[in-house]
Amino acid sequence: MKREELIRPLEGEMIEKLARLVKHNSERGEAGPGMPFGPGPAACLKEALQIFEEEGFKTTNVDNYCGYAEMGEGTDIIGIVSHLDIVPAGEGWDTDPFTVTRKDDGRIYGRGVSDDKGSVIASLYAMKIVRDMGVPMKKRVRMLMGCNEESGSECMAYYNAHCEPITTGFTPDGDFPGIHGEKGMVALNAYSKNTRIISMNGGIVKNAVCTRCTTVIPRGDLCPECLRKALSETALTSFEVTADDDTITIEAVGKSAHAAGPLKGINAAGCTMQALEAAGFEDDFVKFYNSHIGITCDGAGLGIKCEDEYGVLTLNNGIVRTEDGVISCTLDIRRPVTITEEQIREWIAPYLEDENGRIEIEAIGPTLFYPLDSPLVSRLYQAYVDATGDTEHKPMVIGGGTYAKSIPGIIAFGCQFQDGNNHIHDANESLVVEEFLLQVDIYVQAILNLLED
Ligand SMILES: [Zn+2]
Repeated sequence: MKREELIRPLEGEMIEKLARLVKHNSERGEAGPGMPFGPGPAACLKEALQIFEEEGFKTTNVDNYCGYAEMGEGTDIIGIVSHLDIVPAGEGWDTDPFTVTRKDDGRIYGRGVSDDKGSVIASLYAMKIVRDMGVPMKKRVRMLMGCNEESGSECMAYYNAHCEPITTGFTPDGDFPGIHGEKGMVALNAYSKNTRIISMNGGIVKNAVCTRCTTVIPRGDLCPECLRKALSETALTSFEVTADDDTITIEAVGKSAHAAGPLKGINAAGCTMQALEAAGFEDDFVKFYNSHIGITCDGAGLGIKCEDEYGVLTLNNGIVRTEDGVISCTLDIRRPVTITEEQIREWIAPYLEDENGRIEIEAIGPTLFYPLDSPLVSRLYQAYVDATGDTEHKPMVIGGGTYAKSIPGIIAFGCQFQDGNNHIHDANESLVVEEFLLQVDIYVQAILNLLED
């Protein structure tokens, strides 16, 4: 495509339109009448639909859960699924997060410029360019904008329940050159039966490695020095052991990492359990933890260690809590894309309970997988290659989940480029202007490829 001639002249108006979306603080607020996610997302959706109408697209507001703009004819719908809600701006910004600010580093700054309001505007311009080319459209192209991606994707559940299904398409809420597989989430909770541990508490969220953990045990005949030695032989980044006449308290610090890559972190609870056993602390739940969960992050202790050509199963203990003398541990497992729910249930069954502890299955979520040579993946990847000339990066399989999982028929495709860092969800979120233009180029080609029979 002639990017220089066709897209570069649009740069100014693209940024102006993006500013109209960014100025709305569309973080989730208190629900009101007709506003399931509060006034911010509703106002931003109204503005977005207005922008599409000004450009001549038909629009529909789906009860402020989401909305869409459309072009073309026919029964098939190519969906471009983006979202208008944001995570709270937070502290630490150098500029006003709700004013799009261009700096001379070639970037624009503001909450949502990258995740995911910029993609709405890039997709708008891609749709306009395709429409103005006058290519016959025997399928519809629908820009679908959700208002609740950041806190549960209820917007897409509502769309799925009330609106025409998307036939195929993509969400620009992930990475280029596309994510053709997303591992399946398996959520478990482990519980102690009998334990001498007085309390063990650590971790903040299920989907991150438990980085800090405080454990109190009876002093008994355990020598604090032996415990210190055992802790020093773990991977912990630091620890502290304090003792009084009756108890020993262990403060353990590991290293943070996302649950999808738990081996990149160091689990403070796991290392503490390892050290307690090494120091000779006899306890049923310590035994259970070390034999069933441990620190290998591969599910071996639960009989579910496995891998396929796209990746390994991972296991993460995120939160440890003690309530009424019972210790509970959350386990966030990511199962490889070709391993079925039935396989997991069958393999894990013998490991769910013994005399020392038990495990409950909270949920087993779906995987998302399209083969590399499927029409969807190959057409999108071809669009990326044609626009960028990059054949080095390939569509990937990830352990995390994207918006694509909340609506059937699509994969994540952009808008982040490999090796970039747009500080999504952080202070000073930004978007490289040149990449903003490149997105339009890629999405024009993607729409054209998907329009083909
Ligand atoms: Zn997003």
